[in-house]
Amino acid sequence: MSCMDNRPKTIFCDIDGTLVKHVPPNIAQSPDFEMELLDGTIDKLLEWDKLGYNIILTTGRKEGLRDLTEKQLQKAGIFYDQLIMGIGGGVRYLINDNKPEGDNTAFCICIERNKGIQDVNI
Ligand SMILES: [Mg+2]
Repeated sequence: MSCMDNRPKTIFCDIDGTLVKHVPPNIAQSPDFEMELLDGTIDKLLEWDKLGYNIILTTGRKEGLRDLTEKQLQKAGIFYDQLIMGIGGGVRYLINDNKPEGDNTAFCICIERNKGIQDVNI
């Protein structure tokens, strides 16, 4: 997406249904559950990392599930800069001020559940 600011971009990215296959919370939160990577997840994360982007994972999973979630992510090979938990499962908004020049400083991409992020170009 076009934006004049050439500094590394920051990506807030959902986990369940976006990076890994979405399953009901009671299954995803069981101790032995292993995340199933969606097509292109690791390649896209590597691409973003190579570009210096900040990868911030966001999830409605409760903060109390942090240890479990971090282990699941590590086992799946998903790496990131920050993990923000407990943001709820409702609709999400990112609010940011535009530069005086008028360039948009925030964008939103909604993808089909379990389709993967391989076609997302940022
Ligand atoms: Mg999700």
